[in-house]
Amino acid sequence: MNDMSQPPTPPGPARACPICRKPAVERYMPFCSKRCGDIDLGRWLDGRYVIEGDDSMSEGDEEN
Ligand SMILES: [Zn+2]
Repeated sequence: MNDMSQPPTPPGPARACPICRKPAVERYMPFCSKRCGDIDLGRWLDGRYVIEGDDSMSEGDEEN
């Protein structure tokens, strides 16, 4: 079947605010408001976003 009567994608923001999951506002993309943008920035500055993959804590006592 080739049904061409699919409902169109509703217009509007396609993204959700990563902070509060509300629809993002273009002006504050990808957030819904400046407040949420500040919250995200605060998380970065607070060190909660730790970049993984550079963990050099030695755990190699097996090789000697
Ligand atoms: Zn938000």
